[in-house]
Amino acid sequence: MHKKSLTELSEGLKQGQYSSVELTQYFIDRINTYQPTLNALITVTEESALQEAKQADELIKSGDAGDLTGIPIIHKDIFCTKGIKTTCASKMLDNFIAPYSSTVTQNLESAGMVMLGKANMDEFAMGSSNETSYYGAVKNPWQLDKVPGGSSGGSAAAVAAKLAPVSTGTDTGGSIRQPAALCGVTGLKPTYGRISRFGMIAFASSLDQAGTFTSSAEDAAKLLQVMAGFDERDSTSIDKPVPDYSATLNDSVAGLKIGLPKQYFDPGLDPLMAEKIEQALDAYKKMGASIIDIDLPHTDQSIPVYYVVAPAECSSNLSRFDGVRYGYRCQQPKDLDDLYKRSRSEGFGEEVKRRIMIGAYTLSAGYYDAYYIKAQKLRRLISEDFKQAFSKVDVIMGPVTPTTAFNIGEKLDDPVSMYLSDIYTIAVNLAGLPGLSIPAGFIDDMPMGLQLIGNYFEEGKLLNIAHQYQQVTDFHRQTPNL
Ligand code: GLN
Repeated sequence: MHKKSLTELSEGLKQGQYSSVELTQYFIDRINTYQPTLNALITVTEESALQEAKQADELIKSGDAGDLTGIPIIHKDIFCTKGIKTTCASKMLDNFIAPYSSTVTQNLESAGMVMLGKANMDEFAMGSSNETSYYGAVKNPWQLDKVPGGSSGGSAAAVAAKLAPVSTGTDTGGSIRQPAALCGVTGLKPTYGRISRFGMIAFASSLDQAGTFTSSAEDAAKLLQVMAGFDERDSTSIDKPVPDYSATLNDSVAGLKIGLPKQYFDPGLDPLMAEKIEQALDAYKKMGASIIDIDLPHTDQSIPVYYVVAPAECSSNLSRFDGVRYGYRCQQPKDLDDLYKRSRSEGFGEEVKRRIMIGAYTLSAGYYDAYYIKAQKLRRLISEDFKQAFSKVDVIMGPVTPTTAFNIGEKLDDPVSMYLSDIYTIAVNLAGLPGLSIPAGFIDDMPMGLQLIGNYFEEGKLLNIAHQYQQVTDFHRQTPNL
């Protein structure tokens, strides 16, 4: 049963092959079996899940069920969920019960989905390996001494290990696409503004975007359908009609123009990875697509720009965690200064503190022009590169990561080498474009991903292009032996 996609499970529910309560119990049993090994979840909401499943069953009986009714899901612990612990994987929020729900989780709940729990992640979504979590590292289900990627590592590992058919995540610089690639699942990061950020704990507000982990593009289309849309509670959410993402999945890709950025095939890319990408492109050529070389000249600026912009925004966003209003407070503070200082020093982990300090520095009076303003100008040039490219091609393809999953602990003492694992994903966030990672093969038994980058609001086209590939390949159907 766990190998079935959301689409298949939804059919089974509607046909009465099993109830949502049975399905939910089945996945809870899997969580109980594999959670001790994988550490993919921070909170398991068994009781409320069974309650929600019961309600879903009633809806199914009444004939009013939608595609998502009764389907279990796991949410990244960055989404506020009313009445349920929401930690962002930080000691700072270890005791925080959200007083309201995010739009994302609310929309999915209203569609009848059953929340099984909250996924482990890098602390405040800062990381590429899930090792910065206060609750410990997540293991890659394909090989337990490897990282699952990050920051949405728990969400990716959970879907790969089939602890739930689908999960949610967020992507600020690659946090959906990179773990999806390293865990062999389908990961979608939509256009900035497509999905509301309301109730999603902020890391870097101009880059953060919610998205999905699924076993296929077809499943991602169903989730996005419900997650996307305007929300007046998020001033950056965009008021644009949501197209029917499932309706265009079967469109032909004959005549498709695929752009191949030469900068994405640099010496840092594992040659075996490059080979797999070539094979994926061959599959598209067979379907009638053509490959066009393109230039994204500012690609090498994307990591430096990101590590000015993201820390600047994070230093501002995380100033709200002061030990006064909510979250962690130090024991017996001497005075107010001591309360702020110790609460923040004790409540935040190393990586988060590193980012806050970088951000405070680049925003300070003497350095604002030299760093922050300069980074914003370069960000604009990075967007312009994509604009140029999309005047010639329909979609851009390339690797998601330079290598497959690395060992746990391997990059922990070398932040710059960790930052470089997002070299092919970060520019997409700086430009606000949609990106998708799909399983495209294995290297030494570890999964790797193909990245699809689309023009603004072309999620439907990306899902169509991915779905066509998933009709002629079965990498996305492989599951790890646990
Ligand atoms: N790995 C990047 C970082 O550490 C991106 C994280 C993300 O997308 N949330 O900031």
